[in-house]
This record gives sequence, structure tokens and C-alpha cells, in this order.
Amino acid sequence: MYKLDEIRNQFPMLNNKTMQGQPLVFLDNASTTFKPYSVIKAIEEYYSDYTANHHRGDYDLCYKVDMKVQEVRRKIANFINSEVNEVVFTSGDTEALNLIAYGYALSNLKKDDVILLSLEEHASNTLPWYRICELTGARVEFVDLEDKKITVNKVKEAFNKYQNIKIVSFAHVGNVLGYEIDAKSIAKVAHEHNAIFVLDGAQSVPHIKTDFKDLDVDFITFSAHKMCGPTGIGALIGKYELLQKMSLFKTGGGMNVKFNKNMEVIPLDAPNKFEAGTLNIAGIIGFGAAIDFINSIGIDNIHNYELELADYALSKLEKCKDIVIYNKDSKSGIIAFNRVGVFAQDEATLLNSKGIAVRSGQHCAKMIDEVIDTVATVRASFYLYTSKKEIDVFVDNLINGGDILDAYFK
Ligand code: PLP
Repeated sequence: MYKLDEIRNQFPMLNNKTMQGQPLVFLDNASTTFKPYSVIKAIEEYYSDYTANHHRGDYDLCYKVDMKVQEVRRKIANFINSEVNEVVFTSGDTEALNLIAYGYALSNLKKDDVILLSLEEHASNTLPWYRICELTGARVEFVDLEDKKITVNKVKEAFNKYQNIKIVSFAHVGNVLGYEIDAKSIAKVAHEHNAIFVLDGAQSVPHIKTDFKDLDVDFITFSAHKMCGPTGIGALIGKYELLQKMSLFKTGGGMNVKFNKNMEVIPLDAPNKFEAGTLNIAGIIGFGAAIDFINSIGIDNIHNYELELADYALSKLEKCKDIVIYNKDSKSGIIAFNRVGVFAQDEATLLNSKGIAVRSGQHCAKMIDEVIDTVATVRASFYLYTSKKEIDVFVDNLINGGDILDAYFK
């Protein structure tokens, strides 16, 4: 039994908040998520009760912080099924992808090598690769899609079509259409061709069981703020031997064993060699609390509940006149739609006036218009605390909005 009321009671942002004088209905969870009291409290405790730096100080407080940071690394490793030393703290998914680009790709790619992407990728899984191409002479190619989806067959075709694919990088679940890829099979194909496979887990790790070892991908990236954790913290999970071989990205205190006046630097082993400077300790502690919170509900329960919500919303939306849905067959809590003849941003503005938060535009996936043949969509995205009542309010306002817009345009 999914205990929705109990879950909702743990979120201050779900406690009588309003927007435009109306009860807030937050349906922009693919962008970021609310934080439960336990996460807020964990951060507050760090600032109130045991503030100190990490990096092995000689006094108890510092030792405690070191232990906490290491404990969260262990929690993340258990959550994603990696080794503890395969977890690198980053400021988020975007920094994790940049770390792979600059730490791995920059020193391993050369002119005419190929990075395989899709037209559905977020800017954060596109632009770092463009930059690497500028710096190395490599180039990006895009996998063909099958009915808007990345399939194993199309990936195989791409390997036949393009020589020298060295990196394949796709979102595990797309942030506009919510399609999940068969990451395990794609990793296998990439490895058969001596390429590495990067999995952008920003939209999967918070929602579906994502098993690093079982998928056998080379890297997974994700952000805490999309899974009830704080902003400014995330993780790169990488196979240890690859992390060890990667070049340094950020350098400074905390990532080296020693250096001398001849400019010789001995870095620490992975993951610490990538963690220069004072880490976002409060963020890390909040990240750990977020993982505890998700574990207390169970990631499979969360996913099943989101599917139930999506089915519920779709069955209602299908009855709304003039609403086009672009991803009816997506098994996720993301629905991308438009009202015929109405610009997405106008629709979102109308919903805003009713207290409903949805996202409109291209959602940072700025080539998506080549996939779904519209310049912009409205995106409603659900999470573990979304209620059917909120979906009712959203759909009722869409229907009423249709009447308002009809009246306006007639
Ligand atoms: N990749 C995908 C698929 C996303 O949805 C997002 C954020 O929406 C990102 C990457 C970037 O995440 P962040 O801004 O947390 O670094």
C-alpha cells in the first residue's frame, strides 16, 4: 500500500503553499523536486551541530565530517550498486558529464573519432561533447530514432555506418518524452566495438532501479536535487579502472598526495583525485538523507506509483479536446503535450494563473523539434508525492483553459 498522505506530510512545500493566490500544484518534478524535512534537518544539523571541513583534520569534529562524507559515498554506492571508490561527488549531473568529457574524452579522442549522441539529449549531454570535438577534431553523429526512440538496432546500425565511434552517450530516460532506453544492451553493443557508454541518469536514477554493475555501463551521472536532495550536489559513477586512467579535471587542495617546485604533482587515487577543494559538505549530507528517504519508500514502489499516476493523467487528458500528447507510450511520470493552435508558453502561463507549475519550451533539449515536429511542448512531470487530486486540478484547468482560449480566439 502506497502511503501517500504519510509521504506528503513530510514535505513543507506541500503544506498549504499558494501560487497566484491558488493552492500550489507542482508538476515540474523533472526539473527539480521538493525536499522532505529529514533532508532539511540533516543539512541544518551539519550547520548547527558539527560544522567543520572534511579532509582528515586532526580533531574530532573534522573526523566526524569525514566519516559522514564517506558514509554518504557508501549509501550512494549501495543505491546504485557500484563500489564505494567508484562514486565521485560533483556539483550535479552537468558537472559529472563535463568531468567525463574533460577527464576522459579530451585525452582519449583524436581527429575523426566519433561521439554518438541522440537528438533528444539535454544540453548537458550535448554541449560538453561539442566542446571536446572543437578541442580534438573528433565529431558528433546522431543515432537514427525508431518511432522517436533510441533502439539497440539503431545503435548497431550507427556502428556499421560510422567508423571510430569511441563514446556513446545517451539519457537513460529522456527529459522531454520520458522514454527509457535498453541501457544494458546498448552498453554491450558499445563494448563489442571498443567504445565506452555514458549513461545520463538524471531522469532515471530518481525514478527507477538503476544498477551500475548489472547494466555494465562505463559511467552514470545524476543530480541529488531531482531526487529530494539539495541543489549543487550530484555524482559521477565510473568503473574504477577508467576513473584511475582519467586525466585530472579540477585541481587544488584535497586531491593530491604531494607536489613540488618542479611542478610534479602526485594525485590521490580515484575518486578523491577529482574532488579538489572543499566539497559541498552540507549538500552531501542532504544527499545521504535523500537516499535514506527514497529507500524508506522503495524505488520500485516509487516507479510503480508514477506509472499509475501517468496512466491516470493520460486517461483524463485523452478526453480533453484539442490536446496532443507526444509520448503516450512512455513508461514514466513525464507527459509532453500541446493544445492545438496554442503556443506552449501561453498554455503554461494560463496554468500558472491557476496555481499550476508546469514547464514549457524545449526543456534544454534544443534539438527535440527535429524529433517531434513542434518547436515547444508543455511538460507535466510527477514524482513520488504527486496526488491524483493534483492531476484532477491540472486536467480540470486544462479543460476550462480550453474554454477560456476558445472564448478569447472566437
Ligand atoms: N540530463 C538530463 C536528462 C536532465 O533532465 C537534466 C536536467 O534537467 C540534466 C542532464 C542536467 O541536470 P543538472 O542541471 O541537475 O546538472
